[in-house]
Amino acid sequence: MFTVTTRHHHAPQRSTPHAPFRSLVSAVVGLLLCGLVISGCTRSQAIVETPAADANEGTVTQPVASSEPVVTAPATVPASDTPTPQPTATAAPTATPLPTTQPLSATVTLAQPHLAQGQTGVIRVAANLPCAVTGHLADRTLRFVPAGEGQHMALVGIHALASAETLPLSVEVTSDDGQSLSLATAVEVVEGDYGEEVIHFDAETSQLLDPAISEPENVLMSEVWETFSPEIRWTDAFQWPVEGVFTSLFGTRRSYDGRISSYHAGLDIDGETGDPVKVAADGVVVLAEPLQVRGNVVVIDHGAGVLTSYFHLDTFDVAEGQAVKAGDVIGTMGATGLVTGSHLHWELHVGGIATSPIEWTEAAPMP
Ligand SMILES: [Zn+2]
Repeated sequence: MFTVTTRHHHAPQRSTPHAPFRSLVSAVVGLLLCGLVISGCTRSQAIVETPAADANEGTVTQPVASSEPVVTAPATVPASDTPTPQPTATAAPTATPLPTTQPLSATVTLAQPHLAQGQTGVIRVAANLPCAVTGHLADRTLRFVPAGEGQHMALVGIHALASAETLPLSVEVTSDDGQSLSLATAVEVVEGDYGEEVIHFDAETSQLLDPAISEPENVLMSEVWETFSPEIRWTDAFQWPVEGVFTSLFGTRRSYDGRISSYHAGLDIDGETGDPVKVAADGVVVLAEPLQVRGNVVVIDHGAGVLTSYFHLDTFDVAEGQAVKAGDVIGTMGATGLVTGSHLHWELHVGGIATSPIEWTEAAPMP
């Protein structure tokens, strides 16, 4: 027995220029069946600052956040570098003597002008020499993967309850011949457009909200969602695991009997027990087991820190370690775990952060 009341509100897509380098996620989120991935952080190291005027609040300091934040930086060549001959030199005969070490140069680009709560950010670094790339968004470590000739890409999930603020983005590029450079820019996080709902469970079901039951499960899931394998396995936009009506959207702010406030970390798709559930993209099964709150769960690793999860399954037909292809049936829809009826709860994680799956069905970031 349950009731759901939904109030959709249109939060303004405001940007918040104050407190530029506060934590990415300052909110403390109550635990919830749909996952709790909280990235608390504090980083005080400002990297790029330019003065900006705010009509309402006087002059503030605001990191750069253009519609296409691109930063280039010259390499610093260690003075002690021993020049090595460039066998492919085809220099113009009138040129001054060429440096025998090609200077490293690189750019960092954010695919989106800003990132909304619940969105997946795509950060690309292009360099002119073979190199390794590392980076941070505020205090979160970015994990770059090769993305074509001279390119690296990192995906970053923005928490659905992330503070609207501007975060420093720093990237370190180290070429194979020992040169290094640092790139710095900023990423503006804005509020998403999410509704609110209050859910009431009956007493028996509510027992599953007991932290003694839910916490160990949350810990397990958090570890699974931190899985990182560098190979990108998806080849196209993600497929819908089932066709059906959405009964609760990702990011919806929730409270259960007034006791727990959090947000809906997945997308609920309506259907009948026994309906086939398909995997959204190529990947490897990293979890397939029955849990108390989430019911029968399958989690697929698609590479580069991207995982999809399928909750409340009636049955599942895959095992951990198994490779799957987009469209493969991995189980059937059900009503196992803490649910009020048969549906699929579908989650998508990026770097351990639950993000909106819908944008991945429209387009997936490609290398
Ligand atoms: Zn759900």
